[in-house]
Amino acid sequence: MSALLEVRGATKSFGGLQALDDCSFVVEEGSIAGLIGPNGSGKTTMFNVITGYERADAGSVLLQGNAITNQAPGRICSLGIGRTFQLTRVFSRLTLMENLQVGRAGVPRARRQELYSEARCLELLDFVGLAAMARVSAGTLSYGQRKLVELAMVLAQDPRVVLLDEPAGGINPLLITQIGERIRELNRRGVTFLVVEHNMEFVMGLCDVVWVMERGTVIAHGEPEQVRSDPRVLDAYLGGSLDEDEDENENEDEQEEAAR
Ligand code: ADP
Ligand code: MG
Repeated sequence: MSALLEVRGATKSFGGLQALDDCSFVVEEGSIAGLIGPNGSGKTTMFNVITGYERADAGSVLLQGNAITNQAPGRICSLGIGRTFQLTRVFSRLTLMENLQVGRAGVPRARRQELYSEARCLELLDFVGLAAMARVSAGTLSYGQRKLVELAMVLAQDPRVVLLDEPAGGINPLLITQIGERIRELNRRGVTFLVVEHNMEFVMGLCDVVWVMERGTVIAHGEPEQVRSDPRVLDAYLGGSLDEDEDENENEDEQEEAAR
């Protein structure tokens, strides 16, 4: 395996707050990698730096060995890096089909027809189990279903690597299982994943390798079983058990409220 995505020494501060502090890791091509860590450890900031939503103060991001550091989000997306957001960015007033098709604006003209045809968008909605709702406005969906729409929106771009920010956060167990299955299926078709997630059962069951962040940097990594029993990791979670969900994700309604 070779590194598809690599972060070297990423550093980012917001005023006096050091959100990323010389943080480095690699994501092997064809793998499903996890990125975990306590709240505020810098996971979302890392996604923002990789995808160009935040500028790194120092360090570099490489895609197949080529530096893509601090390029515009649209450019990074066109290089094959897709992402979802911790709180979904689905448009409530648009139908699911329209939600998928708004993404075409960011795609080079030559690929628009191929990627954003009705047939392909329907196929993607079918893939996430929502084809029957293609003409329904997204505002009627549950929070979990919106996450699935967002996954379909990312897939429409035909990415090589997908960054998922808390795909299981605040959604019901049945949908969590479904999202896990969809990720595995895409991975079998060659898509590489980097997944931020608080649900330990989900992340440990899904990922080949898990990277652990604390205070803006990586403190451990390895196979799920290794990471689970690593004293540094248990320490980072304040001696708590890794099997306990963090309470912020337990209430679906609160998340739903926050997402508006
Ligand atoms: P995580 O996703 O691991 O919970 P974040 O990357 O969201 O962590 O946040 C890391 C730290 O950076 C937190 O202390 C957070 O409050 C801070 N932070 C993140 N984004 C901003 C921002 N745009 N402005 C100021 N502080 C931020
Ligand atoms: Mg976050």
